[in-house]
Formats: sequence, C-alpha cells, structure tokens
Amino acid sequence: MAENDGLLRPGADGYDDARRVWNAMVDRRPALIARCRDAQEVVAAVHRAQREGLEIGVRCGGHSVVGLAVPEGGLMIDLTPMGAVRVDPERRRARVQGGALLGALDAATQPSGLATTAGNVSHTGVGGLTLGGGMGWLARKHGLTCDNVVSFELVTAAGDVVRASAEENTELFWGLRGGGGNFGVVTEFEFRLHDTGTRALSVELDFPVGDAREALARWRDLGVTAPREATYAATVLGGTATLGFVWVGNPDEGRQHAAGLEALGRPAERRVAELSYLELQRREDTLEGHALRRYWKGHYFEELSDGALQALLAHDPAVAASVQTYGGAIADVPDDATAFSQRRTAFEYVGSARWVDPSEDADRIAAARVSAAALAPYSSGVYVNALGDEGPAGVRRAYPEAKLARLTALKDAVDPANVFHLNQNIAPSRQ
Ligand code: FAD
Repeated sequence: MAENDGLLRPGADGYDDARRVWNAMVDRRPALIARCRDAQEVVAAVHRAQREGLEIGVRCGGHSVVGLAVPEGGLMIDLTPMGAVRVDPERRRARVQGGALLGALDAATQPSGLATTAGNVSHTGVGGLTLGGGMGWLARKHGLTCDNVVSFELVTAAGDVVRASAEENTELFWGLRGGGGNFGVVTEFEFRLHDTGTRALSVELDFPVGDAREALARWRDLGVTAPREATYAATVLGGTATLGFVWVGNPDEGRQHAAGLEALGRPAERRVAELSYLELQRREDTLEGHALRRYWKGHYFEELSDGALQALLAHDPAVAASVQTYGGAIADVPDDATAFSQRRTAFEYVGSARWVDPSEDADRIAAARVSAAALAPYSSGVYVNALGDEGPAGVRRAYPEAKLARLTALKDAVDPANVFHLNQNIAPSRQ
C-alpha cells in the first residue's frame, strides 16, 4: 500500500523515470526513491536508509557508466530536484545545489561572460563530476572543476550537515576534491568563476587510420607544448582518426594556433568551427545522449609513446578511442593538495562502446576490453570518473598508495560503517 511519506515505490507515477540513468544497461529497482528538495530531506533519507538497513545510492546526473547511483532494492537519494544555480558576478562565485547538471551551471554563468571548468556534455551531473575531479575544456587554463571549489555543504553518514572549505573541516575539503562520493552527500558546491568570455574555436582534421601514424605523432608533440587555451583532442573510430583541438578564448588567436597543424600533413577533411562557449558545451549532447547501452575503460598516460600510438590506431573500429591533453593549470596544483591524483598526466584516454541490441552486450564489452588492454602497458593510471566495473583494483589504479591510505583514514573518521559505498569505494580499514 502506498504510504504518504513522499517517497517513490515500485509502481508509483514517476518511479520508472526516476530510476532510469544514462546507460541503458542499468535496469535496477530501488525499494525507495527519495526525491530530495533540500539538505534536511537528505538528512531524513540517510537516517531512514540506516534504520531500515537499506543500501544508499546517490543520484545527481545519473552518468556513472555503471549506474552506481541506483541501488537494487535500496534507497536512492535522488538529488535532481536540487538543480538550482545562483551566481554572484561581482564576487565571481556560483552556489550550485548538489543535483545540478553542468548545463545549468554554464547557462547561469555565461550571461556575465564567466565560467568555471565543467565537462564536455551538458547533461552530466555537477555532483559526480566534481567529486571525482572534473576535466573540461577550461581545465588547462583554470584547473579541474574540483580545483575551483571554494566550499562544500555535506550531509554525513551520521546525518549531520557540515561545511568543508580551506578554513573548516580541512581534511574533508581535501578528500572531497577527487575522492568521489565516499564521504557524504554534497548538497551545495560553491565555485570560483573566471572571466572566460563566451567564444570558442574547434579544429578537427580527419585522416584515414591506415595513413595517420605520423600525423598522430605530430599532433601529440604539438599538444603537450600548446598554450593553455588549447586542449588537444583526438578520436579514432570506424577507420578515421580525427585530430585537432578546442580553443576557449579569442577565436582569431585559435586560428593562428591552428596554422601549426599544417605539420600534420594533408587531411581527408578539415573542419574549423567558431562557436559560442555554450554551443561548445552542448555539441556532444546528442551523440552522447541517453537510451543507448554503454561500456567504457580509461587510462592515464604520462607520455604517449610510439607504441601507445600504434595501439590507438589498432583500436577496434567499433570502439571509440578518445584522447585529450591534460597539463597546464591541472599540473600547477601540488599532487598532495587534493585527493585528485596523477597530476603529471599528459593524456587521458577513454575507450567507449555504444550499441542498442542487448544480444550484442558480450561482444561489445569484450571489444572495449581488448582495445583498452592493448594500451595498458603504456598506462600510468586512470581517472576515477573513467572507472566502470573494475572494483577495488580500479580504485588502486586511480590513487597512489599514500593517497589511498590518507583517504582511508578520512573514511574511517567520517563513514566508518561505509554507509556510502555505492561509488568507486574507499573502504574503511575495519569492515
Ligand atoms: P551519478 O551517476 O548521478 O553519480 C555518480 C556517483 O557520484 C554517485 O554514485 C555518487 O557516488 C556520486 N555523487 C553524485 N552526486 C553526488 C553528490 N551531490 N553528493 C555525493 N555524491 C554524489 N568527466 C569529466 O571529468 N569530464 C567530462 O567531460 C566528462 N564527460 C562525460 C560525458 C558523459 C556522457 C558521461 C556519461 C560521463 C562523463 N564524464 C566526464 C564522467 C563523469 O564525471 C562521471 O560519470 C560522473 O560520475 C558523473 O556524475 P553524475 O552526477 O552525472 O553521475
């Protein structure tokens, strides 16, 4: 029988919409869905789950590739009603509720010519992206999304509402910048904003894969020395290698920089697009849309050796290999300043498969695994937000040993019973 407690149960109106996430392979059924509107409702949900012995999943944008936000038979804390963004253009600050999407953040800041680093697809959640790090077109200039957090408001496993910043709960502040959803439910992020302007340029050159080896090597060399306005990005898919960069700032300067790509040789096709920053932030929204089945694997590289380039070009043609440059302001931050790790990364790789027919699941997943495995000998680690089903071994690739020990100590202090474990889990030392 339906109870009048505001929670959604199987069969209720809106239940199926609320449990649906980005990856169509995820089809789990929480016992309860709490559609929280403020921090106090999150507190109530955290208490209720513990009283009833239910696993907790925390949902913001629902873009965890393995659907970590949706607990089978558990209680899903659905933050999507908490999607508001308030901007103070004078102080260059944005206060963002814990369930907001990146598109809401960009849309609220850009009318003042401001922005902070956000990911490349606007329907991704601020919550999961920021807590894991947050890589985007502004990161080489202004740091990762987590580097731009001034303060967090958090509901802990004990049901307390606390703040974490450079002045308050400083160890928690350290851990929330890269440690994922392990330490509680963030109900508000406060971000530093930058005067970024509103314009951008995208340059893409297509080469047939069989003919792309030298071009890819030159693209790599240009990418690591490029100015911070430029993030070099490449995709190898379906027999084509697309090499280029995105420039955020004055497009004329971006065009001047593009002259350097002449060194890559003659492409089969060349696309140069001047677009607004908001258009840039939405341009992959349809390609990366909902309702498809998805699987991916990630790697970090401190350098892309010729062997790694060869493995990229030998990628399964049905699995997209995407590579982008790190460096710049990301590497300016000392490695021990945040839980986010591996700031010496020069390139990030994600190998991703998408398909429609469930009967193809095994083959598609196997193809992605094989392509990513060929790159593993060159890898220096992985971005925690690019992890999928790797479990504890993946977490050990995301954080060096000393970081993991410090994260474990923080987990022991704030969530010793591992109430928040449906994430890339930092297990407490005694479980
Ligand atoms: P959800 O599935 O809602 O949440 C994932 C996990 O994050 C939850 O299980 C929970 O542990 C935690 N979490 C989320 N919100 C909160 C909160 N408020 N408080 C506490 N814990 C919380 N990453 C980049 O860095 N840059 C990119 O450009 C980028 N592009 C992407 C594009 C697509 C299409 C996708 C699918 C992913 C992309 N990612 C990118 C990876 C992305 O950062 C992760 O998938 C991230 O987990 C998504 O966050 P979410 O809030 O949408 O996910």
